[in-house]
Amino acid sequence: MLPKPPPREGALGFLYLPPYRVQGYSVAGEATVVQAPELDLCFDMGFCPRAALASKVVAVSHGHMDHVGGLAYYCSQRVFQGMGPGTLVCDERLAPAIKRMMDGYIDLEQQVTPYTLVPLAPEQEHEIKNNIVLRAFPVEHGCPAFGYAVIEKRSKLREEYAGMPQESLRELKKKGVEITRILEIPLMAYLGDTAPGPPLVREDVRRAKVIISECTFFDADHRDRARVGNHLHVDDVAEWLGVLECEALVLIHASRRTSMAQARRRLLDAAGPERAERVHFLMDHRANRARYDRQRADADAAQAHTA
Ligand SMILES: [Zn+2]
Ligand SMILES: [Zn+2]
Repeated sequence: MLPKPPPREGALGFLYLPPYRVQGYSVAGEATVVQAPELDLCFDMGFCPRAALASKVVAVSHGHMDHVGGLAYYCSQRVFQGMGPGTLVCDERLAPAIKRMMDGYIDLEQQVTPYTLVPLAPEQEHEIKNNIVLRAFPVEHGCPAFGYAVIEKRSKLREEYAGMPQESLRELKKKGVEITRILEIPLMAYLGDTAPGPPLVREDVRRAKVIISECTFFDADHRDRARVGNHLHVDDVAEWLGVLECEALVLIHASRRTSMAQARRRLLDAAGPERAERVHFLMDHRANRARYDRQRADADAAQAHTA
């Protein structure tokens, strides 16, 4: 009998949550990498799929291997492919270890890979696009761990000056009067690996359009395991959904043992159909493919209508 070829590598998960694509791979303990191409951003780099190279910034949540295993390869490969140095944003407590890891590769490869390391303190921001920043905040995972909020900052005229003629506004500005205020629009939030706690209900998380969060445990009797490992259980997510304003909550980081059908059933039981409606699983290829086909059919129909 012929030996079998190895199993085919899993495809990347993909969701189109207008205007953002959310794509990547995430299995607890194995690897997590989540890319938002429209933001030129990846969250974590457990391994480096080819598509992830195109994003210039990686926001690192914490140092566990399933979240950082592909960082050095990502930096090296971006330079090798002529895409320019990558930028690694991380918790300032993690930065020295990341630098030591990258320095180790200089000895191994006998060449220097340029990259930019951006250590952040809690609540510190890093601009990733014009008027769009990545804001870091600590989460609870038993090791230095960050979540991130992606925030658009729009300058808005203060209400008291609305309707005032341009000339008067210019006058006020010249006198040094603050006529505008900064409006913050939370576009996306990423929780990394985390226990339930206050960071989940921050305003820049709660009000984000798209939230990407771990949910590692689904079995009713695995609540203890979730607590011990500082992870979320589906019951935590069900409760959390009650206060979220997001259009979509993307769950990642399920274990390999959890089947997607099982995960969805458990979520439905815990949260009810109404709350579960906004929830997607990044790695539920079948459901996501069907959803994308519907989106494409709708787009085609809309186009036929206007033609
Ligand atoms: Zn993990
Ligand atoms: Zn972890």
